[in-house]
Amino acid sequence: MKFKLQVHLPGFFTKWFPAAVWRMPGDDKTVYLTFDDGPVPALTPWVLDLLSEHQIKATFFVVGENAFRYPDLFDQIIEEGHAVGNHTYHHLQGLKTSNLEYFKDIEQANMIIGSNLFRPPHGWLTRGQYLFLSQKYKIIMWDVISCDYNGNITREEVLDNVLKFVRSGSIITFHDSYKAGEHLRWALPRAIEALKAEGYEFRKIEFPKVRRLFVTTYLQRIKKLRINFKQLRKWA
Ligand SMILES: [Zn+2]
Repeated sequence: MKFKLQVHLPGFFTKWFPAAVWRMPGDDKTVYLTFDDGPVPALTPWVLDLLSEHQIKATFFVVGENAFRYPDLFDQIIEEGHAVGNHTYHHLQGLKTSNLEYFKDIEQANMIIGSNLFRPPHGWLTRGQYLFLSQKYKIIMWDVISCDYNGNITREEVLDNVLKFVRSGSIITFHDSYKAGEHLRWALPRAIEALKAEGYEFRKIEFPKVRRLFVTTYLQRIKKLRINFKQLRKWA
């Protein structure tokens, strides 16, 4: 089996987050392009033009801060029929952030983004954060990551990462961020052309809304958990 840890995640890892979505169901030749970390003026309009040229709908995991700074770009993504997802307000890493700070940041982003999709920055979050957020959001990971942000690989390798590991239902991750810009501008149009030539169709990610939770509820739940832990210790 083809395997490259950075690009394609191992089974045990996906099992740790069973309700998260790594790949979309179905055997039809459909793939799901996703773009993280935007919107930014230097890249997002270019991505949108390319997608519109190919009549492709994609999913943008937006950083709240960027959506706040560039509301017109954020609106353009929605007006052009793409899906948007929450990628926190400040691009926080779950593992380095307290639960409360992390959840608050996500809610702050949600006030602007208003989506039921969430993708954790860097793909990492604790199992507790995952379980908690799963109650409100569909957590969208990926099946194939282009590594376009990685300055240590060539643009050919970025394209190769996509074309080598793609399969039906793949959620493919690119970045409309300054860091990835050069690789993205080269690899994305080529990836789209090649995937089309292989007979793939493109779709955006959509899921029905899940139950709504607010920050106050988080606080109450955390308090309740603490009490339960105390009780557990007593019983142990
Ligand atoms: Zn990110």
